[in-house]
Amino acid sequence: NIRAETPIIRQLDEAAINRIAAGEVVERPASAVKELVENALDAGARRIEVAQAEGGKTLIRVTDDGCGIPAGDLPLALARHATSKIDGSDLLNIHSFGFRGEALPSLGAVGRLTITSRAAGGEGARITVSGGQMGQVTPAALSRGTVVELRDLFYATPARLKFLRSDRAEAQAIADVIKRLAMAEPFVGFTLRDVSGGGEGRVTFRADAETGDLFDALHRRLGRVLGHEFAENALPIEATREEITLTGYAALPTYSRGSSVAQYLFVNGRPVRDKLLIGALRGAYADFLSRDRHPAAVLFVDCDPHLVDVNVHPAKAEVRFRAPGVVRGLIVSALRHALAEAGHRASTTVAG
Ligand code: ADP
Ligand code: MG
Repeated sequence: NIRAETPIIRQLDEAAINRIAAGEVVERPASAVKELVENALDAGARRIEVAQAEGGKTLIRVTDDGCGIPAGDLPLALARHATSKIDGSDLLNIHSFGFRGEALPSLGAVGRLTITSRAAGGEGARITVSGGQMGQVTPAALSRGTVVELRDLFYATPARLKFLRSDRAEAQAIADVIKRLAMAEPFVGFTLRDVSGGGEGRVTFRADAETGDLFDALHRRLGRVLGHEFAENALPIEATREEITLTGYAALPTYSRGSSVAQYLFVNGRPVRDKLLIGALRGAYADFLSRDRHPAAVLFVDCDPHLVDVNVHPAKAEVRFRAPGVVRGLIVSALRHALAEAGHRASTTVAG
């Protein structure tokens, strides 16, 4: 089966490279929302407003009050592998959500992207990139922060468009992304609006006063996001082992679920779906739950960035710990302790 002609090796052009990268970074509208909201958080935003239409297929707009992008930097923000967040010298010292400089060029390659921004001391400016074609920077009125508008996602890649689910399902996935990020940031206000047709739905998570206690703020935010029943059944978790800290809330076994939908895990503020953490959570409840029940918990693992590699997965959903055994032990012992104490309290209350 030898080819008659010698294959020719070609260097792909920038637009093709960006479309291929987009396939990994932006799977669906919710992944675009995740990238844009993470950018707003990285910019220090205190208020983030997300609008979507038709499940994000026709419109996603993220408005923030963060630091903004200087007019002269707008083309660079859209260039591949251009980022203000790392200098490339230490890939294990990452304190921001972003670091690859891939989200904006990817979105600009597969949709119609317009960024309007104003940095402190500068003027407002706008740039548009559509199907990989970048326009000029033009002046634009804006008081502060950044507005990123993404229209017609995947119009440039019709194959990907076909894989999208119903508007309802995509809108739900967007709401889930906002919920997850909102859990990790109780001091940031989030609004999600559906502006399709009549513009029906609107969800708001008000920012807690930054002077307050983080643990209380987190409890209030979880009540808003997951419902008061979760908040009322949740035990506070706080433990440290070898400079790795675990905080959050874990629900009583009586509040368990038939599936793992109510498990929210974060590493250094980043929502993750990590086998090690999920396994540790399951292990902690093993003595308290039957095998078909799943614990509900919101847990934050925080450690020095050097102790965890977040550069494993394009969508950054997986991480790798330097000391997985320590992380697992920390989770299992902290949760078991909290559950045993709660059980003890409950039985002594009953006893008298
Ligand atoms: P990354 O987040 O990995 O740096 P992106 O492509 O998402 O890559 O963004 C490129 C750059 O554009 C960022 O490094 C940042 O400097 C700038 N940027 C993007 N979104 C915002 C925003 N909402 N506010 C301020 N700056 C932003
Ligand atoms: Mg980014």
